[in-house]
Amino acid sequence: MDTRPLADKLRPTNLDEFVGQEKIAGKQGIIRKLLESGNISSFIFWGPPGSGKTTLARIIANTLSARFFEFSAVNTSIKDVEKVIGQSRTRLTEGEQLGLGQRVGEQQGQKTIVFIDEIHRFNKAQQDSFLPFVEDGTIILIGATTENPSFEVIGPLLSRSRVIVLNLLEPGDLKKILERGLEELHRSINDDAADFLITSANGDARTLLNTLELADQLVVHKKSLTLPIIKQALQRESLIYDRAGEEHYNTISSFIKSMRASNVDAALYYLARMVEAGEDPLFIARRMVVFASEDIGMADPQALQVANAVFRACETIGYPECRENLAHGAVYLAKAPKDRSAYEAYMEALEDVKRYGNLPIPLHIRNAPTKLMKQLGYGKDYQPYTKESLLPEKLKGKKYYPG
Ligand code: ADP
Repeated sequence: MDTRPLADKLRPTNLDEFVGQEKIAGKQGIIRKLLESGNISSFIFWGPPGSGKTTLARIIANTLSARFFEFSAVNTSIKDVEKVIGQSRTRLTEGEQLGLGQRVGEQQGQKTIVFIDEIHRFNKAQQDSFLPFVEDGTIILIGATTENPSFEVIGPLLSRSRVIVLNLLEPGDLKKILERGLEELHRSINDDAADFLITSANGDARTLLNTLELADQLVVHKKSLTLPIIKQALQRESLIYDRAGEEHYNTISSFIKSMRASNVDAALYYLARMVEAGEDPLFIARRMVVFASEDIGMADPQALQVANAVFRACETIGYPECRENLAHGAVYLAKAPKDRSAYEAYMEALEDVKRYGNLPIPLHIRNAPTKLMKQLGYGKDYQPYTKESLLPEKLKGKKYYPG
């Protein structure tokens, strides 16, 4: 049985099934023309969620019979991406070494497409690391972003890519997609419910299909879907937020800020939202462990132990019970006194490390494992309980930590 979500099952595999976005995917659309000419460069797809960015990238890969690797910048380390790129490159250079006269990749005509969702979440240095591979043709990069790429994508990558703008899907487009969904589920829907669903989906085909699927599960018999059922499904759908999306960052950030402000009620509210949305409990607990040191620190060193214990509990217990451990921890951390002095002092010390590099360490506190080192004065006149500054000469007497 195909257990994939409805939205995945219905994902178009070729341009003819792709709905709307006429300017790019229509008969005279740019993607169609480029695919026909075979002249495919790297792309940045800019458009709202559920408008078809991932789908379009896969269609391009299908049409070109390219190898396709999909990543999300939210949960992927740049190393994972580089591994794939490295493999593509090895395939290419091995072909050269075999003396085939032609690169293996070219000989087989198989291109490699690396799709990176939410590419704007990679920072400048991370985006920089793709450049050489885009330039030398090892890969075709397709980056998807919901944010304006002029601000979020580095210039050199932009200038080597074609920026394609996708719009919110039109109500008529969503209607077509809804009809496909109903057919797949062998369901019917009342007109008022359909209109409401289309309006609420707000141009996002994924939301539309996910809501339809939830509504379908809420009704056991094969009755027509009604307005109250669609409303109920929409409410649940909005809670099951896209864990990789904007909402995920907004909610965790609000949770942390509520604890920082010692606002127990707000902390519990945002915690409940994350738990109901199926957020990974370890992700929440990990942030609590960091918070215990960064925001509470010396004011209550036990906070770190509590946060660690919450993490362990989440690890061993899991949902649903571990939500009680999370709540317990959240209340403790929110009510605890706050002190960022250790964290802030560390950041100041870090500034000096970055500014001055490796300054020479005073001779008298250097380790002196050999005779020569002793002769050179390493460890000479070392006083264990001295009040003297132990910092390098340039930073002598510098204070980072107050008190
Ligand atoms: P995103 O823009 O967020 O990458 P996706 O391409 O992943 O969106 O689309 C999510 C789902 O919505 C797909 O699996 C597909 O079922 C449906 N979908 C999105 N755009 C279209 C479209 N233009 N035509 C048909 N279905 C679409």
